[in-house]
Amino acid sequence: MTEHDERVDIVKDLIRDVPDFPKEGIVFKDIMPLLADPTGFRMAVQLISELFDGLDENDEPFDEPDVIVGMESRGFIFGAALAQKLGAAFVPVRKPGKLPCPTHKVEYALEYGTDALEIHVDAFPNGAKVLIVDDLIATGGTAKATEELVEKAGGTIIGSAFLIDLTFLKGTDKLSHRARAVLSY
Ligand code: AMP
Repeated sequence: MTEHDERVDIVKDLIRDVPDFPKEGIVFKDIMPLLADPTGFRMAVQLISELFDGLDENDEPFDEPDVIVGMESRGFIFGAALAQKLGAAFVPVRKPGKLPCPTHKVEYALEYGTDALEIHVDAFPNGAKVLIVDDLIATGGTAKATEELVEKAGGTIIGSAFLIDLTFLKGTDKLSHRARAVLSY
């Protein structure tokens, strides 16, 4: 896939910039027009699936992921669709207090204060090959916490795949494993 792939342009045109949301100075990338367009949404999932197509963390051929881990809440949308496409399991990473069974928990720093994410301790078998999926990486705090959760749960991380990387925030620098995105800003 290259930046000249016309599918990338079609997907990009379906993402709306919303200035000053949720607070002043943030340009929110609104994916609702993309989700509302069946062709565009399918294209976006296809493009995410191509990011790690057949390559392991050493860029050697590998079997497809056993598990897609998606973070609350827009990671559920792309993660679940990708899991269905690849025939993989889908495992949600959720905000504290939402998962009903015993969990691992990781806290991470926000601009002000901290937040936390959880995963079920029995989410997948030990050594399962995991691809982490979210709609967007900004500062990387969410994805970093998710890497830690997957490792606590015994998973082997293939990498992290995003629809959008806000590269000026250098979020992927925080991650311990490979990260790729369909669109970079
Ligand atoms: P971060 O932990 O800073 O990498 O933030 C990533 C999470 O926040 C993702 O789950 C995104 O959905 C959401 N997010 C952060 N910044 C934006 C933005 N500018 N537009 C849309 N979503 C965002």
